[in-house]
Amino acid sequence: MSVPASIREAPRPAALDVERVRVDFPILRERVRGRPLVYLDNGATTQKPRSVIDAVSRYYAQDNANVHRAVHSLAQRATEAYEAARARVARFLGAADAREVVFMRGTTEAINLVARSFLRPRLNPGDEILVTALEHHSNIVPWQLVAEEAGARLRVVPMDAQGALVLDEFEALFSERTRLLAVAHVSNALGTVAPVTEMAAVARRHGVPVLVDGAQAVAHRAVDVQALGCDFYAFSAHKMYGPTGIGVLWGRLEHLEGMRPYQGGGEMIRRVTFEGSEYAPPPARFEAGTPNIAGAVGLGAAIDFLEAIGPETAGAHEHDLLAYATERISEIPGLRLIGTAPEKAAILSFVFEDVHAHDVGTILDSEGVAVRVGHLCAMPVMRHFGIPAVTRASFGVYNTRGEVDRLVAALWKVREVFGR
Ligand code: PMP
Repeated sequence: MSVPASIREAPRPAALDVERVRVDFPILRERVRGRPLVYLDNGATTQKPRSVIDAVSRYYAQDNANVHRAVHSLAQRATEAYEAARARVARFLGAADAREVVFMRGTTEAINLVARSFLRPRLNPGDEILVTALEHHSNIVPWQLVAEEAGARLRVVPMDAQGALVLDEFEALFSERTRLLAVAHVSNALGTVAPVTEMAAVARRHGVPVLVDGAQAVAHRAVDVQALGCDFYAFSAHKMYGPTGIGVLWGRLEHLEGMRPYQGGGEMIRRVTFEGSEYAPPPARFEAGTPNIAGAVGLGAAIDFLEAIGPETAGAHEHDLLAYATERISEIPGLRLIGTAPEKAAILSFVFEDVHAHDVGTILDSEGVAVRVGHLCAMPVMRHFGIPAVTRASFGVYNTRGEVDRLVAALWKVREVFGR
């Protein structure tokens, strides 16, 4: 079992014992610019616990072979490990069937697969795809690519000045031309939690399928795809303590069974002749070529790690940090929070009136504090707030109030350097 002892042995904590969690993350012992690292860029990617690192390295040291292809023992072990990871993901998401879990490179590839294989054949000139104003580029551009080809267009669910979606206008956006609703579960730029269950219920009334981009959600709250009522759910392992290069598309089996392959190659076929090929059923149909086997194993270990803590416990801990950080940084003159929706996850974005975000990021780095700066792959969000860029602190299970204090002290230093 790959769950670290420190977590496995602890009773399910109402409050997280964060110091015990931190011990499992070797990178947190790194020093940056002579100071202990404060890692607050979890929205971009999280750090990896020892159990995930060990699961990947144990797989390579003991089980490595190609999957599904050979009869030798290692190949069987590798195949079992890969398929066990798929079953693990299915349980984690509340999926009805492990065949609904397709291993992808990440959220981006998962969304592109749905755009290309599910939506494109259904799109006709004049059709509409509904997205929201808070989307990451990867939940905008794939839809634009297929919309351009088909002569379809995007319609956008608006958001208010706090960064919450305006749902009064939501239902009016549906028409008989609406072919899909694509919505982020949690906004990467603002932390806004979208009411996806309610939105999916409205979409269902209109017979419109729903894709949820769960990239910023899975590590921070419990996800049950049945309860959400969506048709597709996409996420990346690397934002939930797992490896890079692996992610998941969950899709309802009846949709996946009706979809054409996204890429052709080995593994995704039943029979090939020069006259034509017969495709394998899902999920193999969408996993052409040798998959990221070690990545899938690492993702399984990451789910074990997260579930041992409990997604609600992780979310509650991060919420405490968010509340504390929001209060502390609001005291800094000239600093404006971007994204103050009533329901927010562990993301805190802000701007200084008179200091560019890149300068903020550089000064924070000199203090050993890692944050994100820039447009965060959400240019339409920046435009909505009339700013070019933000600084974003995003929290994970291993962050502490002490680290928030380090962030706040570094922000006061920014204030000092830029003289106010
Ligand atoms: N959607 C959201 C909301 C994200 O935050 C991200 C990553 N920043 C993505 C999609 C894309 O994820 P990936 O780069 O892992 O494919």
